[in-house]
Amino acid sequence: MNDGYDLVVRSRRAVLPYGERPAAVAVRDGRIAAIHDVGVPLPAAAEVDLGDLALLPGLVDTHVHVNEPGRTEWEGFATATRAAAAGGVTTLIDMPLNSIPPTTTPAALAAKRAAARGACHIDVGFWGGAVPGNVPSLRPLHDAGVFGFKCFTADSGVPEFPPLSPDGMAEAFREIASFGGLVIVHAEDPEALTAPSDGGYPAFLDSRPPSSERRAVEHVIRLAEQTGVRAHILHLSSADCLEPLAKARSRGLPVTAETCPHYLTLSAEDVPDASATSYKCCPPIRDAANREALWTGLAEGVITAVVTDHSPSTPELKQGDFATAWGGISSLQLGLPAVWTAARARGHGLGDVVRWMAENTAALAGLARKGRIAVGNDADLVAFAADEPFTVDPANLHHRHPVTPYAGRTLTGAVQATWLRGAVVDGTPSGEPLNR
Ligand SMILES: [Zn+2]
Repeated sequence: MNDGYDLVVRSRRAVLPYGERPAAVAVRDGRIAAIHDVGVPLPAAAEVDLGDLALLPGLVDTHVHVNEPGRTEWEGFATATRAAAAGGVTTLIDMPLNSIPPTTTPAALAAKRAAARGACHIDVGFWGGAVPGNVPSLRPLHDAGVFGFKCFTADSGVPEFPPLSPDGMAEAFREIASFGGLVIVHAEDPEALTAPSDGGYPAFLDSRPPSSERRAVEHVIRLAEQTGVRAHILHLSSADCLEPLAKARSRGLPVTAETCPHYLTLSAEDVPDASATSYKCCPPIRDAANREALWTGLAEGVITAVVTDHSPSTPELKQGDFATAWGGISSLQLGLPAVWTAARARGHGLGDVVRWMAENTAALAGLARKGRIAVGNDADLVAFAADEPFTVDPANLHHRHPVTPYAGRTLTGAVQATWLRGAVVDGTPSGEPLNR
């Protein structure tokens, strides 16, 4: 039995659950074994002194579309997880759609796990899907380890993952509540959506108004109250939804919400023209005033999490105009610097960003050993040069397709190293599958 540690990482700026401070983080057998004052001598097989670089817990991105198997030409486990590690993300949970088959049965979950095996540079878990007709599969998927169930209120963009009707939602929510599960909802009311009148950005924005989100969010809140299910609103874009969410929260209803880097850092005013389809996502990026209201929602805790909703396609599908292009933004490698750049400009600290992108996302999924630098947790760590500016060059992205609305933007904060369970992520896939 070795008394020493496998690794000690020292930083003057460690972001711990109780604040940012100098610390020495000691690792044994892949877990954080101790946290000491930064200067304390500790016996260790390896030691890294980060100096003034910040030390963060690895981020937990609970909203990623890996698209494998079935649409691996869009992304894939190897490319997505490599990009994630380069962006400081050490855990992702894969969405149940855009892959073929979608993760709506235990057999489809097994196919996902088989595709992921041996390919992942970070730890990967899976969401299940709730679609018309698969209520009997929900409990078996829960028992097989999915973290919860995604459903759509409106068209998902792919034919094999249809939306639930209002009655279908009620039925699925009751079933998921019966075993204490979590439902995660793409909330846009289809009756408030229209076809865009042309291919430009203003027409696209008009076709998916704030009222479509608000009506769907209010419906989810009502159903959560009726069924007792834990519900989470995905990729909140419209700040109009903050009021009903805050009211639900104040009444003690178990309804939470997330938003995404693009809603917090970009705005409709930034979209240059109808060919700038790298900005297309659903719900859409709205105006700058709405963006600032989302920041207020985050600061007040009405929005608890920031996730990328990394949702790539082939570059060909992303071409055309806003009426025809694939809706999805790739930002797995850029989420941390994008959010940090905008957060620090609004007076937030690194601890806030870690809470939104690691701690609260881990808590949403029930990942007790992820998202915090704390004794007993997995030693998933990130060395982060918080003051270093860089210009986004798509050539440096590890996403399968480096299509990004952040191209050419200057961001602050560069990931210098990422550790997964105490080992530097160095190009050899060492990620493990995660179960609820
Ligand atoms: Zn998504």
